[in-house]
Amino acid sequence: MKSTTGLAMHGITHHFGALRVVDDVSLTISPGELVCLLGPSGCGKTTTLRIAAGLEAPDSGTVTLNGAVVSGGGVHLPPERRHVGFLFQDYALFPHLRVLGNVEFGVESLPAAERRARAMEMLEQVGMADYAKAWPHQLSGGQQQRVALARALAPNPALMLLDEPFSGLDKRLRDLVRDETLQVLKRNKVATLMVTHDPEEAMFMADRVAVMRQGRVVQFDRPEVLYNAPADPFVAAFFGEVNQWPAEARDGKVDTVLGIFTSPQDGDIEVLARPEALRLDQNGPICAQVLAARPLGPVSLLHLRLDGQDMRARLACRTLPQPGETVRLSVDPTQIFLYPRT
Ligand code: ATP
Repeated sequence: MKSTTGLAMHGITHHFGALRVVDDVSLTISPGELVCLLGPSGCGKTTTLRIAAGLEAPDSGTVTLNGAVVSGGGVHLPPERRHVGFLFQDYALFPHLRVLGNVEFGVESLPAAERRARAMEMLEQVGMADYAKAWPHQLSGGQQQRVALARALAPNPALMLLDEPFSGLDKRLRDLVRDETLQVLKRNKVATLMVTHDPEEAMFMADRVAVMRQGRVVQFDRPEVLYNAPADPFVAAFFGEVNQWPAEARDGKVDTVLGIFTSPQDGDIEVLARPEALRLDQNGPICAQVLAARPLGPVSLLHLRLDGQDMRARLACRTLPQPGETVRLSVDPTQIFLYPRT
């Protein structure tokens, strides 16, 4: 997809010494769209974000912002000339400026009255107008993060860059601030690139997710596509523990302890089954022995043995099956994935 507004990164490659950290990464973000870079530690997420910011110059490839080349072909604009806003884990508010002063700082080129009006408008949007006169140290982590968001958005940036912005907050607050941040970003229709290693956060925040491994984007799609049609076992396993075992496909079919499935190709196959693929079902075709059962709240985690093969299942069940019990199960085939074994 070619985009003339928002961000476009094309063929971005970057090395640190001999190590290729970003490997032919291409992605686009339209205004109002939020794209997450998701992947394990060290896969190149932050470096990709820093290249989009202008904090790092790529070895090759181009970065375009609202149609203008900002990196590539001999051009490299520094961050302050890219019109980008940052939101990082440490809120980085200026301790010697009050909340209002912090937000005004982002729009210091405006005349005083306009500057104040814009800063107050942004504080209003993030629900922090009542704290305009407070000092940063008087605010909670969540409140500081809201002010940092207001400051970053006040100049109306072409691109917002978020690097693990919620990881410093405890879980309950994180969910709340995440939700509010998403609403404010959407309301302001800004193109946003966010780095996270948390698949749940990526699923919640992103319109599209770029899953990275060893510098490469292995899949770039909507969250539901990544979950329901993962490109490979790495992507499938990134969204949570999976049951995985080898099998052989013949005549387009593979026969497993969970049933017979259609295989895209014959030969050595890797079968992946999400723990939520199994359902308790009195009339189900599968019989399993319960090895262990743990309640997790809305669902329970069961260790099962099926035909000599161990399997983990996440099941909604009113009464927890006991170890030694036999249960009957059916399978949701949409949560079973087959890949050629490499
Ligand atoms: P994390 O989730 O741990 O932050 P990441 O996916 O964001 O990881 P990067 O920070 O982009 O990964 O780092 C990718 C690789 O590049 C890592 O191996 C890292 O050690 C290396 N690296 C990052 N910055 C530099 C640097 N300035 N000099 C040398 N190597 C670097």
